[in-house]
Amino acid sequence: MPRFLLFLLLPLLLGGCVQQQMRAQVRHSRVVVLDIGHWYKPGAGGQGARTPDARYGALEECDFWYRYCLYTKRVIEAAGYEVRICNRAALPTDPALRRAAEAAQVHQVNSPEPGAIYRSKHHPKRMAVGMLSADWALDQNPACVVFLHHNSNSERWQVYNKGAMYCNAEGGALAFALAAEIDRSIFKGSPPMENHGEPCGVILRNDGRRGGGDWLNTCNESYVPAVITEAAFLSNPEHARFLGSRQGAIRYAEAVGRGIVNYLNAR
Ligand SMILES: [Zn+2]
Repeated sequence: MPRFLLFLLLPLLLGGCVQQQMRAQVRHSRVVVLDIGHWYKPGAGGQGARTPDARYGALEECDFWYRYCLYTKRVIEAAGYEVRICNRAALPTDPALRRAAEAAQVHQVNSPEPGAIYRSKHHPKRMAVGMLSADWALDQNPACVVFLHHNSNSERWQVYNKGAMYCNAEGGALAFALAAEIDRSIFKGSPPMENHGEPCGVILRNDGRRGGGDWLNTCNESYVPAVITEAAFLSNPEHARFLGSRQGAIRYAEAVGRGIVNYLNAR
């Protein structure tokens, strides 16, 4: 081969090598990072999606995941993996949430301004609100990162069943494993969180700077599978009723854990 051709190919070959090594490191990791979405504002409570009113249960996603992430964590730990949980902001001032955070050993990232947009230190062209916790997640050299959320599509109650697992390109298998477990044990569970036969979607997301899209992108650029859980809609009365019961909430949190374990065991 002419020498100039080799010089042209060398960066490609080396790049491919580094990529292989980084992917292998991720594949051998046994650390799962769970990121509790949004943040708790003292005096105002959780700043995520919420139920329109208290008719079917008053829920807010950040509050929900502080209360129930321990159940997700236990399922993953029981399968022999390590779980580290984070949230972008400070420890909640609410005593019950504080106790829940301490029980789950949540790492508070203490972003100076939890509602502000930050640039990723790992991949500086990526910027979003909540990016400091995505950075912390990557600091853990994780096998995968799951951003714990729920959705809401309206200020009014509305039956809506288009929930999905949003993933990066590395996270397709993780997203399908999570969606399959939500279908099996929640949408078709007994009793079900009624979704009228609509399966949990899987959506590749690589757009959306300043929001969740760039959490997924920054993970993708470190070859880390990542998913945002958006299968449940808090503005859907059937979902709110299910998640508003302690039993339903625990079932949902555990299903997320099983989905992650199924993915990890199949790697
Ligand atoms: Zn959210």
